[in-house]
Amino acid sequence: MAKKTVKDVDVAGKRVLVRVDFNVPLVDGRVTDDTRIRAALPTIRYLRERGCRVILMSHLGRPKDAPDPALQLDPVAMRLGQLLAAPIRKVSELCGPGVEATVAAMKPGDVLLLENSRFDPREKKNDPGLVCELARLGDLYVNDAFSAAHRAHATTAGLAAVLPAVAGFQMDKELTALDGLLAEPQRPFVVVLGGAKVTDKIRVIDRFLDLADQLLIGGAMSFTFLKASGLVVGTSKVEEEGVAVAADALKKADGSRCELLLPTDVVVADAFAEDAASRVVAVDAIPEGWMGLDIGPETAAAYAAAILKAGEVFWNGPMGVFEMAPFAGGTRTVAEAMAACPGVTVVGGGDSVAALNAFGLADKMDHVSMGGGASLEFIEGTALPGVTTLPDKEHM
Ligand code: ADP
Ligand code: MG
Repeated sequence: MAKKTVKDVDVAGKRVLVRVDFNVPLVDGRVTDDTRIRAALPTIRYLRERGCRVILMSHLGRPKDAPDPALQLDPVAMRLGQLLAAPIRKVSELCGPGVEATVAAMKPGDVLLLENSRFDPREKKNDPGLVCELARLGDLYVNDAFSAAHRAHATTAGLAAVLPAVAGFQMDKELTALDGLLAEPQRPFVVVLGGAKVTDKIRVIDRFLDLADQLLIGGAMSFTFLKASGLVVGTSKVEEEGVAVAADALKKADGSRCELLLPTDVVVADAFAEDAASRVVAVDAIPEGWMGLDIGPETAAAYAAAILKAGEVFWNGPMGVFEMAPFAGGTRTVAEAMAACPGVTVVGGGDSVAALNAFGLADKMDHVSMGGGASLEFIEGTALPGVTTLPDKEHM
């Protein structure tokens, strides 16, 4: 069900409290990846153009329920100011009389960034006192932080209960893309899953075994699957508690319309290192003492062919240890096939998106989800507090 957005309410001249996700990487007090800041620009621009006073809230990192100078939002304000080409006011508190006075002095189109919401121990508790103090700052609440929507915090969920609330454009974009994927995917619907752990993603695997036409497995998790199917995988990363889980998934796949594909060849190495000796072997010939760090070229070609024929593709999780050049080939082949696929392409997951960015292919995708954990929980069918608290769009 689509959510009401900023376009469905009269925003003109209002004080608008916007929850964004500015949880960006910082090195030496500088933002090193501003993707999440850019994602919030359409909503911020829309509100400024309508004379709103825009008050932004975000968390950054994991402060221990107290102010941490290294996690203040000043570098974010600086970058946001550059991107908007407008001065951004930043205060060193989240709420209270000082912030209220600053808000009272704002003019139409002004943008104010509040301090890291997690400096306040009440944020993660969704404390009604904090919600009430924040609510005094605005007339309308906009949630544009899909990637924080799996948290029931004061700024992600609490505010929606006490102020008129709507979704921002980034939130709407994420929900539309993921809803479309789950509700009526273009077929054949191909899902590529990789990454570290089977147990992290088992509910996602389960959901896609019901929905997809083909499920292509790579990454470290494929070794847990290969072991479950009776193969010897050397020193490859196997999650022991995931073997039974993988065996169940294989059994479920047997009786379903969804075809589950495992690697047929792998790149093995004699150590977990960039300069390790490496070679390509068939999956039933992994030598003792060697570990699989990437899917092999035959597997990568088969996966690419399936992706190119897809009506819709969802990809989460790298196919190998893409952070090391010798083991990035499988992930690159999949990313390039996604880029060339005429169907709808959706990518989610922190490391998968990092890989796409490293290859310079992110803008070739139809949708790149900013929400790692949130997108997987959404796909699993878990209700996200930051989404369920927003009112549905009224039908005309
Ligand atoms: P995402 O963040 O996209 O959801 P994950 O966090 O599940 O992905 O997994 C990403 C990590 O998995 C990467 O750091 C990558 O190096 C690692 N990985 C992928 N394949 C292997 C492998 N064969 N052996 C060990 N680690 C792997
Ligand atoms: Mg990850």
